[in-house]
Amino acid sequence: MKLHEYQSKELLTKYGVPVPRGEVTSDATQAREIAEQFGGKVVVKAQVLMGGRGKAGGVKLFNSSEEAGAFTAELIGKRLISIQNPAGMVVEKVLVAELIDIAEEYYVAVLLDRNIQKSIVMISKEGGMEIEEVAEKHPDAIVKMPIDPKWGVSDYDIRNAVAQANIPKPARSQMAQMIKKLVKAYQESDAEMIEINPCALTPEGKLLAADAKVSIDDNSLFRHADYRATSHDSAEDPIEAEASKRGVAYVRLGGEIGIMGNGAGLVMQSIDEISAAGGKAANFLDVGGGAQADRVKSCMEVILMDPNVKGIFLNIFGGITRVDEVAKGVLDAFAQIDVKVPVVARIEGTAVEEGRKILEGTQIIPAQTVQEAAKLIVELANA
Ligand code: GDP
Ligand code: MN
Repeated sequence: MKLHEYQSKELLTKYGVPVPRGEVTSDATQAREIAEQFGGKVVVKAQVLMGGRGKAGGVKLFNSSEEAGAFTAELIGKRLISIQNPAGMVVEKVLVAELIDIAEEYYVAVLLDRNIQKSIVMISKEGGMEIEEVAEKHPDAIVKMPIDPKWGVSDYDIRNAVAQANIPKPARSQMAQMIKKLVKAYQESDAEMIEINPCALTPEGKLLAADAKVSIDDNSLFRHADYRATSHDSAEDPIEAEASKRGVAYVRLGGEIGIMGNGAGLVMQSIDEISAAGGKAANFLDVGGGAQADRVKSCMEVILMDPNVKGIFLNIFGGITRVDEVAKGVLDAFAQIDVKVPVVARIEGTAVEEGRKILEGTQIIPAQTVQEAAKLIVELANA
């Protein structure tokens, strides 16, 4: 899960990383007021989860609070498009931060290096531009230091890496201190990446994180409830956002047959068989193991949020979970919601006969094979 710049900076501030002062807002008048606190000398930055905001016109420097307010009014609701993100993202909030003078821009990041299966610290004297560009133009200007999973990094290693990166002497100690804090923040917040670009050196010789991008490992979100609550960005598909809020693995695919299966493989097979039968899947949805009624209900509700859905295909295989238990869950769920489209269920596996009996005479039409079920639901949906 990517955090917005302002959230990333809040996190880093907790670890003592110096960042320019600033406040986030979605209101132009408020933006003007914040800018006034800094004497009008501010940078207004679109809070969208994509790189290259500067080039996309989402970052602008100001000398007057009126202009900062006017720019905010212009930005809010606007879709920003960058090379990294051609579909673009709609701006909902801006960060209004005090303008700092920048003498030099460095790059520093802590991230997972999948090649060496370790987290690393990356440092470069060439900040400001995208790191991919640095890697292309000045590959020698990037220093990578692995973090030992058990022992971490020593102060000595950090100082060494900073010197190796040719960070000017007066800034080295600040840089080393910042890296130490970044590594701590990275480890304690289950981050996959913390990137500071630019890490700005002011003419007075102060080092600040002028930009910050933090990404948290999704698999750790159960212990970061505070982030989960804010993870649903408007730029996402609204149904996918709702599904993610409910903890449901759902991807919208654009077709007309809603799909729910207990297991990712079953769902993928269902999508293929729907195609083979001449239909198109509306979604991927893995209901997961077990199948409690409230879980099934929640998943069905998500599927039905898509107005294109004209039929639903349930692909249930009873392994450890018995088919009859799943069937009961499905019926309980259907008793609580009004499903107006045809539903076909392929059920197979442990206790399939009992499961079949439970579904008899209900609105859920049982089928034996996946192919049969797929053909039937495509027919019914088109009828
Ligand atoms: P990004 O394009 O999404 O990475 O957004 P950044 O926050 O990195 O901003 C882009 C560029 O704007 C930076 O590389 C800086 O050159 C410039 N910038 C951002 N904040 C400030 C600031 O406070 N003062 C000055 N002088 N430049 C800034
Ligand atoms: Mn940046």
